[in-house]
Amino acid sequence: MKAAILGATGLVGQRFVQLLNDHEWFEISTITGSERSIGGEYGEIVNWRMDTELKPKVAELTVQPTDPKHVDADVVFSALPAEQALETEENFAKEGFAVVSNASSHRMDPDVPLMNPEANFNHVSLIDDQRRKRKWDGAIVTNPNCTTAVLTLSLKPIAAGFGLRNVIVSSMQAASGAGYPGVASLDIIDNVIPFINGEEEKVQKETQKILGEARRPAEFKVSASCHRVAVIDGHTEAVFVQTEKPASPDDIIRCMGEFLAEPQKRKLPMAPEHPIVMKVEQDRPQPRFDRNEGHGMSVVVGRVRSDPVFSGVKYVVLGHNTIRGAAGCAILIAESMKSQGYL
Ligand code: NAP
Repeated sequence: MKAAILGATGLVGQRFVQLLNDHEWFEISTITGSERSIGGEYGEIVNWRMDTELKPKVAELTVQPTDPKHVDADVVFSALPAEQALETEENFAKEGFAVVSNASSHRMDPDVPLMNPEANFNHVSLIDDQRRKRKWDGAIVTNPNCTTAVLTLSLKPIAAGFGLRNVIVSSMQAASGAGYPGVASLDIIDNVIPFINGEEEKVQKETQKILGEARRPAEFKVSASCHRVAVIDGHTEAVFVQTEKPASPDDIIRCMGEFLAEPQKRKLPMAPEHPIVMKVEQDRPQPRFDRNEGHGMSVVVGRVRSDPVFSGVKYVVLGHNTIRGAAGCAILIAESMKSQGYL
């Protein structure tokens, strides 16, 4: 299938290019950028920040305008900033394109699936509501904010086995989460910034939508505190959970370690063998050592222990923010759509 990448020059766009290079199902057919890039050769325009080589086949593509008339594709991956994504993605869906988006613009629309495939594979059926309501043949499907993607994957087996009543999360988020060039080096080196605009609200609402039913968000409470730290890639999160049914740390370790979901059962190409990798060492997970687990698609959990305040459990989870938290998750969504007949 032919795949287009909107906003291919940005950090998430580059991650799409890297991950789609040798993909079994999708081949990059079109890449787009803003006014400053249109008409140039991708290889010359892009400030390539990935740690693998850019393949000539893609480097030679001409950057196209972000306009359905200039795009030839069966699936469109959007890595646009939210302000540009809002209308642009609707224009693509009206023209019959299936758009899988990283942007926040449509995530909370009730007829738009917000998917983290291991957590809510069946939410894809919201596309039927969307097509009926908006009278278009295309589709918009979104992936979660990077912090939410990591959090919800770790919470899913707990929700399924014990139910969730309250969740508190404190994040330590990598600099690459702010795109390129992102946060100024003089602001982030030797520092922690305790504010990321809009992030806490996104984590709170998106978590309830993903872990609820397709048409009814979950009712458990989520409180998030988000912080930017001097790490390049990999978001670390300290999570405190009060479950509905009593659960010991050993119960949680077992249910997370054994967790497998529909993408694993269907052997989708981007699905990691183990969505949650458990660490027993007392000083793990750490971004430098653990962010590439499962090619960046697994989350890594450690330090599972009792929480005396909640009479519940607490743990630390880490995930790669531009792979599980962005491009990798979007590709897994497209694979999930295809395997359920929506592409
Ligand atoms: P970024 O590095 O700033 O890249 C933005 C991209 O959008 C560039 O390719 C840019 O093209 C393009 N663009 C900007 N204005 C445009 C316009 N008017 N028309 C067409 N293209 C335009 O940002 P990013 O980190 O890759 O993030 C992309 C999206 O993913 C955002 O919505 C972000 O919130 C979301 N996201 C990011 C992460 C992460 O970890 N970074 C995680 C999850 C979700 P030019 O280079 O040609 O200007």
